[in-house]
Amino acid sequence: MKLTSYGATREVTGSKHLLEVNGKKILLDCGMFQGRRKEAAEKNHNLPIDPAGIDHIIVSHAHMDHTGSLPTYVKNGYANEIISTHATRDLSSYMLADSAYIQEREAEYLTERKREFIEPLYNMEDVTKTINNFATIGYHVRHEVTPGVWLTYYDAGHILGSAQIYLEIDDHDDDNKRKTLYFTGDLGRKGLPILRDPELIREADFIISECTYGNRFHKYIVDVDDHFERVINETVNRGGKVIIPAFALERTQEVVYHLHLLMNQKRIPEIPIFVDSPLACNVTTVFKSHPECYDKEIYEEFIKQNDNPFGFDRLKYITDVQDSKNLNNLKQPAIIISASGMMEHGRVLHHLKNNIENPANTIMVVGYQAAYTLGRQIIEGQKVVKILGKSYKNNAQVEIMDAFSGHADRSDLINHLSYFDPKPKQIFLVHGEEGQGLTFKEILEELDYTGVTVSEFGVGYDL
Ligand SMILES: [Zn+2]
Repeated sequence: MKLTSYGATREVTGSKHLLEVNGKKILLDCGMFQGRRKEAAEKNHNLPIDPAGIDHIIVSHAHMDHTGSLPTYVKNGYANEIISTHATRDLSSYMLADSAYIQEREAEYLTERKREFIEPLYNMEDVTKTINNFATIGYHVRHEVTPGVWLTYYDAGHILGSAQIYLEIDDHDDDNKRKTLYFTGDLGRKGLPILRDPELIREADFIISECTYGNRFHKYIVDVDDHFERVINETVNRGGKVIIPAFALERTQEVVYHLHLLMNQKRIPEIPIFVDSPLACNVTTVFKSHPECYDKEIYEEFIKQNDNPFGFDRLKYITDVQDSKNLNNLKQPAIIISASGMMEHGRVLHHLKNNIENPANTIMVVGYQAAYTLGRQIIEGQKVVKILGKSYKNNAQVEIMDAFSGHADRSDLINHLSYFDPKPKQIFLVHGEEGQGLTFKEILEELDYTGVTVSEFGVGYDL
């Protein structure tokens, strides 16, 4: 059998790993490339594999860099099933629809600018067809994908519904030898709210491992609740508002979960809290309907008490544009959670514009801010920032909470891999910038792992 990666090779986006076995082509993940606009658009348009020739697609989780190209593949001829967990399918229906909306607006903008028709990467119709093709299975259910290939999903603890992919294979071209291939997907961390910890797997011949933070340790792991408590109380005492830019999927629900706990424990005052993002509201409904993904703590704190972890008296979800605009007139202290997480687009821009010049307010950053984004400029303390084309003084307090990372760091990854006994025959490192991958390979080799490869785009490896 043969493994070839067509994305997330020496970079973090576009996850796509093709397994050719028993005359079938099985694609693990079908992610979209993100990053610099023009470069990403080219990579998303030029497909390295003929979609009509793929027999099965298995996805790990609902982040766009793992599922965002599914509608492109369906549009270009992929007509078979897309296997995922139940929650991943439900999250994908909202995430892919949002992505189609962005693609359509982008194409309209380019059509106007270039004065020629530019077709969107995909549209809502393509997304509907894609969602129709999903076939879902639960964790720990052994499913025969094709004769001689069995799939089992294990919890990855990264976002709701996220899974590690474990394949047992009878290789018909190699005397029917039983081989096992394990793909981490994106691996979460122990102790994340809502989610169970990543499950440990004991045995695999071949591993495809993410290495986003292969050479980094998560710093500043302070108690999330203490940090929220201090910042919110300080801001309320100044008569200000707390603006929390957050990704619509997972981070928003985690923040709501913590605020709910703090309010129940009377550690923060009963001020209004708004989640102002239509996508975040939709995604939250998916969270509510998938208790099979919850950890023990959420049962103890909320479900047992008949309490809804994602909704409480003081919390209001906002979808309507006018309701969102009305928040501008709000005079008293409040907490506003809004997307996008890196402050590049979305409703959060209006809240930043209205609140950034007042030193009584706080902008609380709970996610990674990539280079060149507005979020990065704000956390780096740039004195004046441009929001929606106008300049604003960056006077508000800025607080950074690093404790929320959804990815395993170097020690988590090593712990996870050290559980395999015996050591795997080969490890392919993917989903990490080149520097992270190459350093993590050295670290693994120092720990006596052999056959470690930092995967390269389009290079096939015989297993
Ligand atoms: Zn992810």
